[in-house]
Amino acid sequence: MISQSTIEKILDTADIAEVVGEYVNLKRRGVNLMGNCPFHDEKTPSFVVSPTKGIYKCFGCGKAGNAVGFIMEQNRLNYPEALRWLAAKYQIIIEEELVDSEEISKQKSEREALLAVYSFANKYFKDNLLNDEEGKVIAKSYLTERGIRDDTIEKFEIGYCKKGWTEFYNHATKNGFKPEILIKAGFIKQKEQKEENKKEEYFDVYRERVIFPIHDITGRIIAFGARLLKKDDKISKYINSPENEVYHKSKVLYGMFQAKKSIREKDFCILTEGYLDVITLSQNGIENVVASAGTALTQDQVKQIGRFTDNITMLYDGDSAGIKAAIMGTDIILENNLNVKIVVLPEGEDPDSFCKKSGGTAFEEYISQNATDFIVFKTRFLLKEGHGDPIKKATTIREIVETISKIPDPIKRSVFIKQTSTLLDTNEQILISEANRLRLKDNEKTYKKINDEFENLLSFNNDIENTNFNPDEDREKSVIRSIILYGNMPCIDDYTVVKYILEEIEMDNLEFLNENYGNILVETRKYFNTNGFVDEYFFKNNIITSQIASDIIIDSQKHLLSPRWLSDAEKSIKTDFDNYKKEVINNVNYLKLSHLNRLLNENSEKIKETKEQETLNELLQIQKNILELKSKLASFYGIIIH
Ligand code: ZN
Repeated sequence: MISQSTIEKILDTADIAEVVGEYVNLKRRGVNLMGNCPFHDEKTPSFVVSPTKGIYKCFGCGKAGNAVGFIMEQNRLNYPEALRWLAAKYQIIIEEELVDSEEISKQKSEREALLAVYSFANKYFKDNLLNDEEGKVIAKSYLTERGIRDDTIEKFEIGYCKKGWTEFYNHATKNGFKPEILIKAGFIKQKEQKEENKKEEYFDVYRERVIFPIHDITGRIIAFGARLLKKDDKISKYINSPENEVYHKSKVLYGMFQAKKSIREKDFCILTEGYLDVITLSQNGIENVVASAGTALTQDQVKQIGRFTDNITMLYDGDSAGIKAAIMGTDIILENNLNVKIVVLPEGEDPDSFCKKSGGTAFEEYISQNATDFIVFKTRFLLKEGHGDPIKKATTIREIVETISKIPDPIKRSVFIKQTSTLLDTNEQILISEANRLRLKDNEKTYKKINDEFENLLSFNNDIENTNFNPDEDREKSVIRSIILYGNMPCIDDYTVVKYILEEIEMDNLEFLNENYGNILVETRKYFNTNGFVDEYFFKNNIITSQIASDIIIDSQKHLLSPRWLSDAEKSIKTDFDNYKKEVINNVNYLKLSHLNRLLNENSEKIKETKEQETLNELLQIQKNILELKSKLASFYGIIIH
């Protein structure tokens, strides 16, 4: 591999005009060179080379880049080949760097190594459970006692890790796995060294535990849950694999690989709390079961279920302490427009015990008879918790409405409002307006997102030299630039550019955020009001405007090439005389748009604060008007916003 210092030497030495000149007949045009583009057919030159900036750009086909890029394109070479070509041309000696290939493909190979070690370990653990004496006595008998059949053990690939301190470590290293990957995968840990000269020592983490492999949706093993069998209060009952390149626990549901077919067929998914719930239910013919083992339900998990069904049934033990926490975290399902039901098992039962006692068929019947819609369940639950306290009831109403407002579908929303208004013994209209208010608050976030995107779009469309740019400020700079470069030229009707800009800004009360540009505007207004025109001499020599004006004037003479083009060739910037009018109008409109966005934000703040329906209606009307104005402005740019 070519060393970085050689690459830099090549880039510094390669003269773009010379390199391109070997293939293209270039003619000087101001500070730049022009010729017919070698990459597309043309008769009038639109291919520009900037020797000072070391880059080229074709205004016809949009291709752009530096000398290396040109050679790659022209000679159909890859990057190192093009570098070597240029090195040969300029007689630069290439220093080769030995590459640590491990470093380069580290991430990829680490993924592969992890998947390999998980699959290897799983085979070993399974074998321990079924064929090893210790495994049979300790683990297999435990599972059998719990009524877990052999075919279920096979289906969920349950295994066992033996007691010995280094059983797995020895087996894995003998088979070529390095300690580093075993640590990363969570199988071993390093002992604390007591004596300095002692060699490194490792020990197995999952000792004496039943192993539940966690599969990804395609069936590959990406992690393990390891359950301790003996009672020991000093160590945790479950140990899970650490997160790494292949395992992100917020994206995985235990049992999904085995359950997905059944979830699709039955068109609902049962969500339980633990591995053994999934396994027992599945063994009893209820296969559409998954567990979010150890985490609160996440967006990713809900979306994964949503690929197979719209319906989730959450299953809780009769005495589950988790119910309250769970119902608080369930809005996430509603936001994804899935339907949620809750089933609570009889007091003292968990899925395992209940299923064993009554069998799969009775269990399914229980589920279908006791599944309560989540919102109704939550309402009842909170009312019960409140014991008729009116203040708590008000909080409950707010919480329920907030939950309902998360549902994207308006019809579903109105059904739930009707239902809960009865339960809550509260006027439906109050619930509706509260829900609308909350929806609006959420919409506001959406507006903001659209605005942001919109503004990005606009700012990218323009002549911004700064790489570290702020859309508003750069637009302000563009306005100042228009005044300085084209101030006295005609704009709209009999208005000059400077007159048009100053009047628009005054009429709409627009303000500049950047102080420097704002000050230039103030100076310009003073000068214009006295003289009726502006001129370059004034801008260059006025102490307040001098620095920025000089910058802008010199810049305008450096011609069209800006470094930004390199990153995005098609964003061509045309500030020539044919386009200046459009540019001026666009920039002024952009200032208006920013102003509208500020008004919109202020109004949204008021909407959030108001408690009165009448004021709310007024504010909503204002909001609507501003948005309409915005979309008019947007259509000026040929962009559709909602
Ligand atoms: Zn071209």
